[in-house]
Order: sequence, then structure tokens, then C-alpha cells
Amino acid sequence: MNLKAILAIALCKLLRLLSRLLGRGGTAMPGRWALKLCPDLLARLSKNVKTVVITGTNGKTTSARIVEQAFREQGLSYLANRSGANLLSGVTTEFVMNCTLGGKMKKEYAVIECDEAATVKVFPQLRPQVVIVTNLFRDQLDRFGEVTHTLGNIRTALESVPEATICLNADCSLCSSLALSLPNRAVYFGLEQGAVPSRAKAALSDATHCIRCKTEYEYDYVSYGHLGGFRCPKCGYARHAADYAVTELIEQRSSGSTVAVSIRGEKQIAEINLPALYNVYNAIGALAASVEMGVEKEKALHALAVFKGGFGRMEAFQLGRADVRMMLIKNPAGCNQVIDYLEGLRNRFVLVICLNDRGADGTDVSWIWDAEFERLNSIAGRIEKIIVSGDRAQDMRVRLKYAGIPDASITVEHDYEKIVSSLETLETDICLMPTYTATLELREVMVRHCGGKQFWEG
Ligand SMILES: [Zn+2]
Repeated sequence: MNLKAILAIALCKLLRLLSRLLGRGGTAMPGRWALKLCPDLLARLSKNVKTVVITGTNGKTTSARIVEQAFREQGLSYLANRSGANLLSGVTTEFVMNCTLGGKMKKEYAVIECDEAATVKVFPQLRPQVVIVTNLFRDQLDRFGEVTHTLGNIRTALESVPEATICLNADCSLCSSLALSLPNRAVYFGLEQGAVPSRAKAALSDATHCIRCKTEYEYDYVSYGHLGGFRCPKCGYARHAADYAVTELIEQRSSGSTVAVSIRGEKQIAEINLPALYNVYNAIGALAASVEMGVEKEKALHALAVFKGGFGRMEAFQLGRADVRMMLIKNPAGCNQVIDYLEGLRNRFVLVICLNDRGADGTDVSWIWDAEFERLNSIAGRIEKIIVSGDRAQDMRVRLKYAGIPDASITVEHDYEKIVSSLETLETDICLMPTYTATLELREVMVRHCGGKQFWEG
């Protein structure tokens, strides 16, 4: 380490300490200042750290928590950017917090969640061993532009690290196309036809036409959105066989799933400690990455059965006598998966939807019109009431009204404290669906009422 790097480390540690003393999360700011002093600080620190990076539209946080659990099962010493600071600055802060003042790393491994747009800056410094691309969906259009632009970002980032193994979602025609033009070793994960609940083809697709020749894809099966057994009838681009495959959904419960998996042809049964189909994807992707990082299969499988959901991602709380699930929503595909989960619930529940339109949410809330809230009508008998909140509560109310939900069953309440207090005496289940910035605020109130950790404590 040269003098500049040492000074940058000291400054970063000091700023982080100050921001914690002031009671702030402050994970990005210290790293930003450190990088101003020493622009290649992350490259210097991460040089001998074996790193797995998780990127993609949906499922980053949950996948990262599963990989972490697998690392713990294997007894590896690792660091992780658990607080959602997933840009270059936040990742740098995390590395600095795990090194000595002289710049010597205290951990051998790292589990890093990386924003898709930040991959171009982060990858060349971090030089990961393994990269998971979970999936690509239309998300926060005003921030990232077209989904193909996001795909281009990830491709450029991967071009800088040809030695990295990429774990690609075989069922996503967008992200598995990365293997067509990159020299990286690719492994695939996905759901086989037997693991997909038989349901009519989903109406919503973010990728209807072949990424190579623009011909409309044909599908053998669709799991959700544009994910499934796709094939182009003209150029032959098609779903790649999955090395890590879920072959059968044996049981789906409100608390988790039991599935049959095939790990490079070897059959196993896996318990997944979170409900909903999208978490089956997160589980198989994280399993693939963990094994590729050197975790033993048995330990990686055990991790699926015992990991805990990440911040606001199917996170469970106990509020009085009510079971609460907090499920972050941020785009149509992810939101439809939460609605899928609601459809599968057997108990009566109260639904709280919090819609914000701040920077991190995407300032354009028109995506709610693409999410299938109409499907709530089929389970109206089990919905006790719906509370809408957040900066754009009225937009959400209008959306539900157009979906055919009677206005009388919808309450608008902006004060989270009042909402949580009113729920405290209930005995029905509670489902919370906040957008990203609403998750931060609503979760703080929930934590205060239920007891728990603040987010920067991980
Ligand atoms: Zn084609």
C-alpha cells in the first residue's frame, strides 16, 4: 500500500465511525471520499480476496444472503455489503471496514451485491471469481433506460474480467445471451418444465423477440414474465440446458418450498426456507454460485434450508399475534410474483401497499399499470382490507379501483406509525408491499414495534 491508499483507508474508517456516531447508515459516503484520494483503492484491497458478485434486476439481495449462508456452512471467512450499498463507493467502504489500517484484508472471501449500472466500474477493480446474473426485467426505466442497455452494461463489465465464471439464468433469454459474445466460462441454472406450475402463458413479457434476429420466440413453457423454455424458430438461439436445475416442485408452502434439483446430473432434494417461485430461482442460482466458489454440495444445499430472508425481501415479523411478511416491490415482474404468493395464501390477511417515487424507486410509477393487480379480485374473499400509503398512495388507489377492487375496501393512510399501530391488535396475517424507499421507512417502524435490528447492523 502506498501513502495515498493508507490515507484513504484512514479517512474512510474515520468518516464511517463519525456517521455511525451520528446514527446514520452512511455506507456510501466514506467510500466516495476514499476513492477521491485513491481511485484504485478497491482494486488494491480486493486483490487477494475471492469474490462472488450478484447482479441482475430481481433477487440480488436474497441470492446474496443464501451465498453468505453457504459460506458460513463451509466455514469461510467473508465480508458482505449487506446494507444495500451496491455501488462502487459502498463496496469500497465495505472492504475498508474489513482491512487493517495498513490495508491488510482480514477476510478471504467476499459476497458482493452490485447494482447493474455500477458493474462497469466495480468489476475491473473487484475482479470476481464468480458472477451471478439473476435475471433481467424492465425496471426503473427513468434510471437505466431500456433493459437492453442494462444488458449492455453487464456485458461491458464482464469483458473486463474474462477469467470470471458467469452463472446465468438459463430461462432468461436476455441474460443467457451474454454467453454468446463473451469468452467467460458460463454455467447455467434454471427451472425445467416439471418444476413450473401449469398455468396459462403469462401476459407480461419484457423480451418477446429474439435478441439475435428479432424473430418472435416460441416457448415450451413459461415460469413467469419472459422466463422459461424459449427458442427462436429462425436462428436457433434457445434455452441452454441448466447445469443446476430445479426438476420438480414437490411442495409449496406459505413458509417455503420443497424441490427436486439436479446438480450436474446428480439428483437431490432441497428445502428452500422462503416461499414463492421467484425464490426457487434465487435458491438455484445461489446454489450454483456457491458450488462454483468451492462450497461442498451438501453444505450449499443445507444453506437453502436454513438461510434467512434479506432486508424486506419476504422478511418475516411477528407483530402482536399477527404473522407479517414484508415483500419489496419495484417492477411489474417482481410485483406479479408477490401477487402469485398472495394467491397461494390460505389465511385471511390485510394488505398494505406503499408506493413511493423517489430516486431509488424510479420516479415513474406507471409500472403499476403493468402489474396484474386485477388478480387480487380472485382472492378478494381472503383480503380483510387494503391500506395504501406512500408519496403516491392516490395513484395506487386509482390503480386498484381500475383493477375492480371496491373503493370501500381501500383505506389511504400516509402515517406508517398509525398503520402499524392499527395492525398491532389484529389476528389475521399481514402482507406489506412497499417500494424500495418505503421499505426503509416502514421497516424502521416495524422494527420498533416488533424488536429487531436496524439495517446497517446487518
Ligand atoms: Zn433468432
